[in-house]
Amino acid sequence: MEQLDYYADRKFCAHCQTYVSYLMSLDKSFCVQCGNEVRLFSQEDWQAFNRALEDRRPKGGRPRKNQPNQQQNKESA
Ligand SMILES: [Zn+2]
Repeated sequence: MEQLDYYADRKFCAHCQTYVSYLMSLDKSFCVQCGNEVRLFSQEDWQAFNRALEDRRPKGGRPRKNQPNQQQNKESA
């Protein structure tokens, strides 16, 4: 997926308000343009990302309808 590659070498700079190339430090990354710390997602994208996760999570227990109860082909050794 090309988009994954895109985000793999770009991070969001809150100062530049855009995704930028970054320099990696030990555990932080810095914008190559302004030198400020960058993050993986913008706040908006991060919220959208979390919302997407919430949506994928089933609310309440999912009723199981297809229980493979009728397995009568047991081979006795
Ligand atoms: Zn910047």
